[in-house]
Amino acid sequence: MTGRLAGKVAVITGGASGIGAGTARLFHAEGARVVIGDLQEEPGAVLAAELGEGAVFARADVTREDDVAALVDTAVERFGGLDVMMNNAGVMGVLGPVDRTPLAEADLTIAINLRGVLCGMKHAARVMKPRRSGVILSTSSPAGMLGGVGPHVYSAVKAGVIGLSNSVAAELRRFGVRCNVLVPGAVVSPMTAGLVAGGPGDLPGAEAALSATAYMDRPLRPADVAAGALYLASDEASHVTGIVLPVDAGMTGAGGPSP
Ligand code: NAD
Repeated sequence: MTGRLAGKVAVITGGASGIGAGTARLFHAEGARVVIGDLQEEPGAVLAAELGEGAVFARADVTREDDVAALVDTAVERFGGLDVMMNNAGVMGVLGPVDRTPLAEADLTIAINLRGVLCGMKHAARVMKPRRSGVILSTSSPAGMLGGVGPHVYSAVKAGVIGLSNSVAAELRRFGVRCNVLVPGAVVSPMTAGLVAGGPGDLPGAEAALSATAYMDRPLRPADVAAGALYLASDEASHVTGIVLPVDAGMTGAGGPSP
């Protein structure tokens, strides 16, 4: 087996769509066996079938601990272990002004985007600590680092993902387990298509809309973020832990668009 992830086993939540699906494709192409976890059964099953041997789909809701535990157990039982856990499932959640926040909807956003990540870390650590090896990746957002680039609850939970990951990185490094965060910029995906185009299926509309505001010559695509995930997941990053890797065309570090 060849590839930068040859012999490794990865679980990717939110793996049926967008950034998660792009990462599942790249990880699999680089030799990993992948467990794709998602609420959406049809696209998840189609992706697993497209990838073929070494890829399975399992329906999982990251707000349910049993589902997340089962994803990890599937990796161990089907493929013999867990090397990479990518906590990527997320929703934009509550929109609108803070004084009209529907708190039940906020609870759900927090449950998916933050508690779901914690749950993934918990069950990945259960398997990785005794093996003294593994990589945990979590998907945050520029909204978790800057004000004014995302809805308020989304910003709060994405900031929380960074704090959680840094803390868990400090705890797990002595067990040989690395823990890092990806910060994608505005990526052409069903999530952004639902916001800036004609709905989650309108990827050409999202590509066109995000092209108009892109900081570089084209908007980000899932494969761009997947390339960052691949580096962090690979042995090339063997001493990289507790970091936040922006793949965001400079939205966070370079202060947005060029003058
Ligand atoms: P997407 O909507 O294409 O994919 C998200 C996936 O998560 C979907 O397949 C969805 O079914 C799944 N999901 C939602 N709730 C779930 C739950 N409770 N349990 C399991 N799966 C669930 O979005 P995307 O753009 O690929 O986003 C992936 C991640 O990247 C998210 O965490 C998002 O917040 C983050 N992100 C996206 C962008 C962007 O511009 N697209 C930018 C920064 C961060």
